[in-house]
Amino acid sequence: MHNLFEIDEWKIYERSFDSSKQVMAESIFSIGNGAFGQRANFEETYSGETMQGNYIGGVYYPDKTRVGWWKNGYPEYFAKVLNSCNWIGIDLEIDGEKVDVHKAKVKSFYRELDMKEGVLTRSLKLQLSSSKEIELVSKRFCSMQNDHIGAISYSVTPLNFSANVKFEVYLDCNVTNHDSNYGEIFWKEEDKKVDEREGLLSCRTKISDFVVSTAMRYSFWKDHSKLVIHPNTIEREMYVSNTFEYFLEKGTCYTIKKYVSIVSSLNHKEFALSAKAILYVSEAYKKGFNVLLKEHINAWKDIWNQADILIEGDVRSQQAIRFNIFQLFQSYTGKNSKLNIGPKGFTGEKYGGATYWDTEAFCMPFYLKTADSNVAKQLLLYRYNQLDKAIENAEKLGFSEGAALFPMVTMNGEECHNEWEITFEEIHRNGAIAFAIYNYLRHTNDEDYLRVYGKSVLVAISRFWFQRFNWSEEKGAYVMLGVTGPNEYENNVNNNWYTNYIAKWCIQYTLDIEKNSTFGPSLITEKEKEEWEKLLEQVYLPQITNSNIFLQQDGFLDKKNQEVKDIPESEKPINQHWSWDRILRSIFIKQADVLQGIYMFEEHFTPEQIKENFDYYEPKTVHESSLSPCVHAIIASKLGYVDKAYELFQRTARLDLDDYNKEVKEGLHITSMAGTWLSIVEGFGGLRISESDLSFAPKLPKEWKSLMYKIRYKGLIIQVFCGKNDIQIQHNGSIDLKFLLYGKEMILKADDKLIVKLDSLVKK
Ligand code: BGC
Repeated sequence: MHNLFEIDEWKIYERSFDSSKQVMAESIFSIGNGAFGQRANFEETYSGETMQGNYIGGVYYPDKTRVGWWKNGYPEYFAKVLNSCNWIGIDLEIDGEKVDVHKAKVKSFYRELDMKEGVLTRSLKLQLSSSKEIELVSKRFCSMQNDHIGAISYSVTPLNFSANVKFEVYLDCNVTNHDSNYGEIFWKEEDKKVDEREGLLSCRTKISDFVVSTAMRYSFWKDHSKLVIHPNTIEREMYVSNTFEYFLEKGTCYTIKKYVSIVSSLNHKEFALSAKAILYVSEAYKKGFNVLLKEHINAWKDIWNQADILIEGDVRSQQAIRFNIFQLFQSYTGKNSKLNIGPKGFTGEKYGGATYWDTEAFCMPFYLKTADSNVAKQLLLYRYNQLDKAIENAEKLGFSEGAALFPMVTMNGEECHNEWEITFEEIHRNGAIAFAIYNYLRHTNDEDYLRVYGKSVLVAISRFWFQRFNWSEEKGAYVMLGVTGPNEYENNVNNNWYTNYIAKWCIQYTLDIEKNSTFGPSLITEKEKEEWEKLLEQVYLPQITNSNIFLQQDGFLDKKNQEVKDIPESEKPINQHWSWDRILRSIFIKQADVLQGIYMFEEHFTPEQIKENFDYYEPKTVHESSLSPCVHAIIASKLGYVDKAYELFQRTARLDLDDYNKEVKEGLHITSMAGTWLSIVEGFGGLRISESDLSFAPKLPKEWKSLMYKIRYKGLIIQVFCGKNDIQIQHNGSIDLKFLLYGKEMILKADDKLIVKLDSLVKK
């Protein structure tokens, strides 16, 4: 297979410059720190095709969605993540010619993302039209230690000349969104200051009224000596800069060390923002590039210590899983319950930077197992803090008595997506939010969370489900009409099995919590209890007669029976080749739907049920959502279809690195990266965390010599090594750990290491 980027265990790199790959590379080489993120745009002017992007967590613009055919209940706006102040800008001019990689002759080029250290480096040699040659080396990072700080070291070496070179170091908020109409600017200036070697720009977003202050300071060096310069200051609308000329000597390296701080009114009082930004950047400046870098690398070291996965024998998979883990922690670190994880993280504009069910269904299980439990708790608190809005949202649709419908897409708790079939109908997201609470408890035992926060969320969601079902005389059961399941290639269907199942489970779980006095006083009435119990006995769950197969929805069997292998290659992906009408009527499934339910509630089903459903649905699934192959991969591993699992795993793991869907230009698939991690740990690694048991049943693909992963479980860090001949498990706790290995009970003594030879076990 042709690799778009070089294969390496810890790095993504390329050795030559191809302008047709630049926008894609800008996504792949993005850096971020959970608070803000930056696409791999160049510091200096670039006149070729590019998509500029610096995004700040939680800062958005509410784009109008009102149209002539407005209907009651439609969301007021569609949220857009905003491209924000360009903080990386450093321009160079030699003999009146701006240095521009697109116009110059690129004599050598190397770009590298070091995932171990979280640093983006670029080094290149350029020949300008005057035949002057220069070497540029830039190194930058968004500090993981201080998540309001970014730093750049930018070096220039004249290779065949000595001359005056003009530098311009700037902050520029005259930026547009890729998805804006007519280049609309979403910012207006609030405050600015500029002085020698420093500047500040505070801008306010139109309508949503966020203020973001960006401050910069920099120093200029000749090799290792700091130079004294007296730059000119420039101020324009939403722009501040310093320019200076310096005589550069041939063969000598000159470096600008630029520091920025970015703070927003999401986290700070507006009146203090400019002062905070200036203070933070001064602190960063005092520390200097190397100290900041060291702190940043150490923060990454801590992350890798707990979250790394080692795969022996398959460097492509090793690189891919590290890329996925790296991008996830760049997108979310759990330091702030106002932030969440957009499907593109900080790497692009698509999906508006907003929160989807992806967080609870995919990211939550990842963070639960790879980070301190507070990280997952912040994600739960994000939804808890939006409960009132979810109740309002349900009220707008006609629900009452505290029923809550969390939005399908949100920035602040309000629904902000503009497709009615998604916002009104894709209500299964409520189930994923309830499941996340349950999942959090299974991993952490944090009953306080349930008592203080979780229970009220569960009750409000269950109230919604109760009201959303209706009694069908014809079926003699409770049915749920007019929904969209996870498979968005079907809309307005009745009795989507997954939605009915998760709704039923949610009401049952809420009742169980309600009945257990350890979780505090009851929040529901006796009447509600009785009605919910009655409903639970008669929820309609469609199934194919005389089989173990759960029917995706009513009427599914009326569809023309086809398999993905019947679709000509030239028509794939169908969403880029077929009309929407044709897709909706076809049997093809966008993403795991029934199998999503089987994955989440695996212990409710027999091995035969799991197998029959997988064998039925996998051939019909086109996996045109990045969230799909991972779920199928996990089930395939469980069923022992290891080659199939490996094929699906490759598709999820290298989706972006190999640009499978030809859309990486738009940004990376951050939320599905969590699914990749799950397809290793729960798929090949065979980990299951149920209410009662912790169990492992690894099945390695033949391509791998061994796999090592670590998980967090009830305060312990457990390390699992799966080799061809043995499994080794150890943990850091002071208690004995009970678990199942291929169904056999094991006890691991504290501070001990359990080594089990595989030939001593009968594998299931
Ligand atoms: C998927 C949804 C997902 C959204 C954002 C869509 O393509 O069908 O399930 O929530 O992308 O990732």
